[in-house]
Amino acid sequence: MGGVANSLVQTLRRIEGAYSLVIMTEKELIGARDPHGFRPLSIGRTANGAYVLSSETTALDLIHAQFVRDVAPGEIVIINEKGLTSIQAFPAHRRHAFCIFEYVYFARPDSVLNGHSVYEVRKAMGRQLAREHNVQADIVIPVPDSGVCAAMGYAEQSGIPYEMAFIRNHYVGRSFLQPTQLIRDFNVRVKLNLIESLVKDKRVVIVDDSIVRGTTCRSRVKTLKDAGAREVHVAVSCPPHMNPCVYGIDFPDRSKLMAANNTVDEIRKYLNADSLHYLSQEGMVAATGQKKEAFCMACYDGNYPVAYDPLLDKHIIERRRKQTQTLGEAAANENEQISLLQV
Ligand code: SF4
Repeated sequence: MGGVANSLVQTLRRIEGAYSLVIMTEKELIGARDPHGFRPLSIGRTANGAYVLSSETTALDLIHAQFVRDVAPGEIVIINEKGLTSIQAFPAHRRHAFCIFEYVYFARPDSVLNGHSVYEVRKAMGRQLAREHNVQADIVIPVPDSGVCAAMGYAEQSGIPYEMAFIRNHYVGRSFLQPTQLIRDFNVRVKLNLIESLVKDKRVVIVDDSIVRGTTCRSRVKTLKDAGAREVHVAVSCPPHMNPCVYGIDFPDRSKLMAANNTVDEIRKYLNADSLHYLSQEGMVAATGQKKEAFCMACYDGNYPVAYDPLLDKHIIERRRKQTQTLGEAAANENEQISLLQV
């Protein structure tokens, strides 16, 4: 094993948590996944034989690269002029924990994760949701874009017509990732425009991929009711989010997670929906076509595959920076006072 590879193995063995890394040296391209394989990382090959690495296979399509295979959990791949070398940095590690939320929301639908199309899995989640909750309604509408595939599956399974009643404005970002409530509320309003004639006097099933804080969904229900929808039923293509993610997905802490602090009926009332239905944990896993043991589902079931210190939350760097700034400001003030005294 060469110098860089050896250093990398030793370093990665000291790091716990979720990561997929792509590193470039002068002569090598290196990819690595954590031993649980929380995040995806794929190897592709271009027409001229060059290897490429990507966290989503959709990026391979864009450059006409052929998918070769996924980097395995715990694997380091070193690509150089001699080709591709593989090292398993954690040969004894068995427990895999791919983030199931990648299938629900995070990955692009045109990606393939662990050999399963995200588009197909999301549709299967929608079909499963319809099997689990039989709602009498006139139309099924998605919350675009992430609810589209599940809503298609829901409509297919239930036989209720599918309509794209909400039209997405593509020039604003993901609302739950925005830093402040003010920006989130504004984004909710500008993000989707409703074609009112499609929902007026109708019983509507609106399919969303998840409810995190609940503010976005509540606003959607209000928009539908203001437009004259007779009934609004909310169907969510994943189970309730009960716990924060400590592996890189920017959920709020437990105090702000709607489902962690309220019953399903309390959430329904808050949303002002006529009914509210979540996909079961078993149904979500079944839709992936894989075994539960393959996944991390901690934000749903609370079983964190890698132990973490709750004091080391995601804001620790920001807090340290503020502390350093405050200390720096205090030192600057002190220096200023000292120089004033000297004057
Ligand atoms: S806690 Fe949830 S979002 Fe985070 S890695 Fe696990 S499944 Fe994914």
